Amino acid sequence: MTTYNAQVCVVAGGPSGLAAAVQAAENGADVIVIEKAAAVGGAANMGMGPLGIGTRYQKANMQDITVEQAFNMFMEYTHYNVDARLIRRYFGQSADTIEWLEDMGVEFEGAFRYFPQSMPTWHIVKCDSGIGPRAASFMNKALYARAQELGVRFLLETPGKKILKENDKVVGVLATDKNGEDVEIRCSAAIICTGGAGSNFKLIKEETGYTHGEDMFSFAIPGIMGDGLRMAWEAGADKLPVRIEQAAQLMGVEDLSVSVGNVMIQPNLLVNKFGRRFMNEDYMQNSTYLSNAVSHQPGRVAFSVIDTSIAHYYMKHGVENTSLVRPNPDVSDFVDGIKTAMAHGNKGMFVADTVEELAEQMGVDVENFKRTVEEYNDFCESADDEFFKDRRYLRPIRKAPFYAARVCPGGYGTVGGIRINENCEVCDKNFQPIHGLYAAGADSCNIYDDSYMFLLPGNSMGYAVNTGRIAGMTAAAQVKADAE
Ligand SMILES: Cc1cc2nc3c(=O)[nH]c(=O)nc-3n(C[C@H](O)[C@H](O)[C@H](O)COP(=O)(O)OP(=O)(O)OC[C@H]3O[C@@H](n4cnc5c(N)ncnc54)[C@H](O)[C@@H]3O)c2cc1C
Repeated sequence: MTTYNAQVCVVAGGPSGLAAAVQAAENGADVIVIEKAAAVGGAANMGMGPLGIGTRYQKANMQDITVEQAFNMFMEYTHYNVDARLIRRYFGQSADTIEWLEDMGVEFEGAFRYFPQSMPTWHIVKCDSGIGPRAASFMNKALYARAQELGVRFLLETPGKKILKENDKVVGVLATDKNGEDVEIRCSAAIICTGGAGSNFKLIKEETGYTHGEDMFSFAIPGIMGDGLRMAWEAGADKLPVRIEQAAQLMGVEDLSVSVGNVMIQPNLLVNKFGRRFMNEDYMQNSTYLSNAVSHQPGRVAFSVIDTSIAHYYMKHGVENTSLVRPNPDVSDFVDGIKTAMAHGNKGMFVADTVEELAEQMGVDVENFKRTVEEYNDFCESADDEFFKDRRYLRPIRKAPFYAARVCPGGYGTVGGIRINENCEVCDKNFQPIHGLYAAGADSCNIYDDSYMFLLPGNSMGYAVNTGRIAGMTAAAQVKADAE
């Protein structure tokens, strides 16, 4: 067995682990990162950027949002079911973190909203291909380079498997190298940052009741198996609920053209299996709300419905609600896109010449659906008395062919599971810190109560980077104190 000596071992090199490593090293600790994958960056390599509150980007654009406002908004949103001290520290540090990242070479496009009702807290990283998915990989590259400059050692393809303790204190981490051999990192502080359990469908089923591929579609990266959760629980951490970081999606979205994704997620008519509406479709832009609402429907499924006039309107004028994830409003190839999806066997797209036939294809109650369409068409002439939908989005369903798409609950992965305090110390059932054990990022993200908060976007990566920094600070202070 190979043994390494360090003061701090960071278990995983996603954004929380990288931030923890850099911060601990900047604060004088000798740090080793062990990472399961062959590269660092984790899920954040897919994303666009972290939250910041009170940053120079917001001030420059007169987008006034203070830590106090964001804190109060967040605590109201979560009904005070979360750790106010941790939220306060995270939000209070977030503007400094944006500057800290800039100091190591990260550039930002600015501060953005996710949809009109959200706040402009999403600091999208500048990359070489414009605003869009994967921009945050540039942030991870800068963190990795800074860590190496500080002398942090990285052991890639080396998954952590056990926290070693003696006399109630952390003394090391056991891992496996790429040849399957055991590796021991002797250290007095370990920071767990393994990103939750989004790819562990068994654990998701046990902890949340969702069945991946049936009533929930996680788009987590591979390898996120809940290793850190298990390691922390075995080491005595208090176990908190593991939740899906809800974000609704169209079935088989990864194979759909951008235009189909864009059109079918507009505030169209939305019905459940009974053929009945169940929400004000204006809120479909908030994919957490949409995912929650769909989760409460029979079979946890819904259908977004348009007719040919609506399709042609979007194809001619572009969609009304764009998102920075799908920034191009041009959907002129929508009809081709839906045909291609169906030709490739997508089971979530439907095209029919009558409303009845569409209902049959969707497996929706035919009579109810016909009645809903009639009522909805009446609302389009006057007002939506049922759910008060914005008049702008009320467009009748009359002209064949009719199109529908299956909307399902989805998630970026899981959040939560390990109890930490505002210093990112892992705590036991009595709320007492376990000496030398820390956690950051999704493994410790118990801050949304039951619903990820898109109203302050960038909150997931923002939480990861900021708690990584906090854990790095606390761990470095502890190893220094231990040595004195
Ligand atoms: C498509 C997509 C887009 C997103 N966009 C955004 C966005 O724009 N803004 C935002 O705020 N959030 C976004 N998110 C969420 C954000 O990326 C995550 O919240 C964030 O990456 C979590 O960071 P983390 O460090 O906790 O975990 P991760 O980024 O998931 O990293 C975990 C790391 O742990 C490693 N690992 C796992 N097990 C072990 C083990 N046993 N030993 C060692 N290493 C291990 C993994 O290989 C991985 O590198 C997005 C997520 C996805 C999937």
